[in-house]
Amino acid sequence: MQFDSSTSESLAASFISMKAFSTAGRGSWHAVSDKDWNDWRWQLKNRITTVAQLERLMPKLAPEEREGAILAGESKLAMAITPYFFNLIDIDDEACPVRRQVIPRIEETVTAAWETLDPVGEDTHSPVPGLVHRYPDRVLFLVTDRCAAYCRYCTRSRLVSNASGYDFHPEFDRQIAYIAAHPEIRDVLLSGGDPLLFNDEKLEYLLSRLRAIPHIEFLRIGSRIPVFLPQRITPELCAMLRQFHPLFMSIHVNHPRELTTEVREALGRLADAGIPLGNQSVLLHKVNDDIETMRALVQKLLMCRVKPYYIYQCDLISGSAHLRSTVTRGLEIMDGLRGHTTGYGVPQYVIDAPGGGGKVPINPGYILRKTADKVILRNFEGQVYEYPEGTGLPVEYPVCNSSSSGGKD
Ligand SMILES: *Cc1c(COP(=O)(O)O)cnc(C)c1O
Repeated sequence: MQFDSSTSESLAASFISMKAFSTAGRGSWHAVSDKDWNDWRWQLKNRITTVAQLERLMPKLAPEEREGAILAGESKLAMAITPYFFNLIDIDDEACPVRRQVIPRIEETVTAAWETLDPVGEDTHSPVPGLVHRYPDRVLFLVTDRCAAYCRYCTRSRLVSNASGYDFHPEFDRQIAYIAAHPEIRDVLLSGGDPLLFNDEKLEYLLSRLRAIPHIEFLRIGSRIPVFLPQRITPELCAMLRQFHPLFMSIHVNHPRELTTEVREALGRLADAGIPLGNQSVLLHKVNDDIETMRALVQKLLMCRVKPYYIYQCDLISGSAHLRSTVTRGLEIMDGLRGHTTGYGVPQYVIDAPGGGGKVPINPGYILRKTADKVILRNFEGQVYEYPEGTGLPVEYPVCNSSSSGGKD
């Protein structure tokens, strides 16, 4: 392959700049006091939720975005963006990878024949409202229908933000009673909506009730709040959470630009509280569906003490076609990670099978062929190797072949 050196130099420069940590800054909120800006409740109260706000903040708002923002909420999934996260958007670039994740577009109103509102069949695996028991030993515990900001490709838009009248009212007593009555459940994953939107007291109450169940070995929280609202990750929250170990947290970062100095500090506080951190990314068209961006992302996550856990093929949620990338591209990206960067940085690529099949791991093919006595492999550089199988022992080996066990059973 021929490389133009100026192209490869500019690629190297863009890779380095993607990995640089910087602050989200104050943007249009320069007059706000530090106290307010760093207060998570202020951030929530001042979220961008209306078209009028968007038009004021983004003079170059595209017509597709304006229309999308008008229809959001009326139809499917409300718009909400924290001022902090809004400042990561390049307001001059319609293709900005942060912008595509949170600014609605008119394309959301188009539903392909294979798209649905419950693409991974959660409602059909729900023994009590707000609890999904899909795998034998663990449950997904939905605690709220609200998030700090709304991802436009949300797989749970049917309940989240309540725009479509799903009327989500989890009953913690019923959810907890089910878990207590099923001793095979050893792992509870709190999600929603975003559990970290609860205040410390409410979250502590829930975690204590779960910890009081003897067969619960492992707790985890799925949250995008460290990314949308790092101000929420207070020392008090971390001190509360650390009482419930082993407690893991799965965060959700899609593009390296989301890893700011603010987020790095928030993640540092969680990691210092002994909380192992994993990241779940969704493969999104023109957000992170290229090797350079994904490699920068996983390396930057490791710098924040976060293990890249899953890359999800985007669920077939209604109105997500403009954000969905292909499985072919996902496999190319996995091929560009394994061997090319730190093994800890390589997540598992999965498809959550439509209709409720659960997560299915998707891997590039490293086994070229398998015969009775060998496996033919290729490595990350495309070179071919053979791994012979079999014992190599002679068929008539006297000791192994003897019917007596030689005194040792
Ligand atoms: C993803 C998921 C889990 C957790 O799966 P892990 O592979 O253990 O992370 C549990 N329940 C449901 C319904 C899920 O979708």
